[in-house]
Amino acid sequence: MKICFATNNANKIEEVKAALGSDFKIVSLNEIGCNEELPETGDTLHHNAFQKARFVKENYGVDCFADDTGLEVESLNGDPGVYSGRYSGEPRSDERNVELLLKNLEGKTERKARFRTVIALIFEGHEYAFEGIASGEIIEEKIGDGGFGYDPIFKPDGFSQTFAELTLKEKNQISHRGKAVKALIEFLSNRKF
Ligand code: IMP
Repeated sequence: MKICFATNNANKIEEVKAALGSDFKIVSLNEIGCNEELPETGDTLHHNAFQKARFVKENYGVDCFADDTGLEVESLNGDPGVYSGRYSGEPRSDERNVELLLKNLEGKTERKARFRTVIALIFEGHEYAFEGIASGEIIEEKIGDGGFGYDPIFKPDGFSQTFAELTLKEKNQISHRGKAVKALIEFLSNRKF
């Protein structure tokens, strides 16, 4: 059973491949001959994830899934949300995004935030959505060298370290993406062929 993961991010592909048994062959966008940028013009994570998955299905004819993630900060009414990757504008920069978020939270004591991942799956003629959430808070300055994006300023609930201080394995066990991927894998693994 061949399914395309609509990404060229090798880490994400490996994560899913490792978790799924040999019943499924996970292929990247490159492997189905898709080298174009996928459309991502919606104003919700759900919209963007389905926009990417439908684009691949319609243009390349393969069953597929796509993910979209955002960081939602409560006292900023859910910003940067779906715009997390380009919060400080183009070209995208994790460093400038983190600086801008810290600036926008300056002086605020209410710093609750959550990462949310939506995975859109198109499988055997049907559409399914899976979601994963990691709740925590935005600390006042960067700590840790690991991870990417907002990891150095995000401290998950129940931990004294930031995401950037956890190993990848530790992060995957509690992260938004890890949880959404787990739900997807549970669904696919339970399919009978
Ligand atoms: P994407 O949908 O996976 O491309 O994520 C969009 C943006 O959200 C990224 O460019 C990052 O800024 C941020 N982001 C997504 N996942 C994470 C994470 O696990 N840690 C920190 N930032 C993340």
